[in-house]
Amino acid sequence: AAEKFYDDDADLSIIQGKKVAVIGYGSQGHAHALNLRDSGVEVVVGLREGSRSVAKAEEAGLPVKPVAEAVAWADVIVVLAPDQVQAALYASEIEPNIKPGSVLLFSHGFNIHFGYIKPAEQVDVVMVAPKGPGHTVRREFEDGRGVPVLVCVEQDASGTAWETALSYAKAVGGTRAGAIRTTFREETETDLFGEQAVLCGGVSQLIQYGFETLTEAGYAPEMAYFEVCHELKLIVDLIVEGGISKQRWSISDTAEYGDYVSGPRVITPEVKEHMKEVLADIQDGTFAKRFMDDQAAGAPEFKELRAKGEAHPIEAVGREVRSMFAWRAALDTDYTEGSVS
Ligand code: NDP
Ligand code: MG
Ligand code: MG
Repeated sequence: AAEKFYDDDADLSIIQGKKVAVIGYGSQGHAHALNLRDSGVEVVVGLREGSRSVAKAEEAGLPVKPVAEAVAWADVIVVLAPDQVQAALYASEIEPNIKPGSVLLFSHGFNIHFGYIKPAEQVDVVMVAPKGPGHTVRREFEDGRGVPVLVCVEQDASGTAWETALSYAKAVGGTRAGAIRTTFREETETDLFGEQAVLCGGVSQLIQYGFETLTEAGYAPEMAYFEVCHELKLIVDLIVEGGISKQRWSISDTAEYGDYVSGPRVITPEVKEHMKEVLADIQDGTFAKRFMDDQAAGAPEFKELRAKGEAHPIEAVGREVRSMFAWRAALDTDYTEGSVS
């Protein structure tokens, strides 16, 4: 089992004694910067010229500098720009300005693990990765709680990288909930696998196939949407609360029996073989290369797939059905801008 660490295991004064540059002020960036500041840490936000995020950071009362200046000023550089821009950002702004003895901190291991960023030997390379969206990380902190974090060290030049990372985890509220010790490799590969095979890729495809099966059989699209998509949240909430067992305990015996006899007919052992292929592509870097090459070319494949997903009939029906829940309609967003993590 994984090793776990809490507030009492971490020394906040370590990070309070360092200057921290948070590069990027998006989902994670804003949460880290504000939680650090509220924990008594000296923070500067590093943003590119003309960034739309500057106004947001300044409104929150945080000092903003160009990325290169923030890096040169800092002892700890927190890389919270999107994964696909980190390598170029590192080469042009971070590497030329980072001081020997600095700490480079990530919230996802992608660029380090797959070798897109190769830091100098005199630098500590650590990860503090909250297991939740940035807006939850901030809200929980403000409410006196925290979101669990993964913490690990890839390169320990100073001999104190772990203590520094744990101190940072405490400052963002992570050790209130608990920190789990892992490695860059484990975090990166399991994160990519989970989102591809189950959480995002698997679930989205499952919903779309379910919707297609019902509508192709002549059932009303609104009915299909309710049964294969809308109710998913209720099921997932039960699983999150008490595991698959609580979910099965709560549903009707009819539903539970159907789960046992039909689940394995739909998700056959072949699916597991395909999952293993997906995992192999993650482990050997095939997926990372495909993603990064496409991004470097202006993301043609990514944009095409996003447009195709958006055009699936379930999206139009879903918007209509959700508007029936008047109090929820405000939650709908223009998703064409997208956000990946
Ligand atoms: P976002 O997409 O929310 O980050 C956007 C921020 O990065 C904006 O402030 C944007 O500023 C800035 N930015 C974009 N491009 C550049 C650039 N070229 N140079 C400088 N700044 C730039 O990222 P996330 O918060 O989603 O992800 C950050 C990291 O956290 C990733 O490593 C991700 O894997 C990880 N992570 C994310 C989670 C999440 O909840 N989203 C959960 C756990 C980990 P501008 O206004 O200039 O575009
Ligand atoms: Mg039902
Ligand atoms: Mg991820």
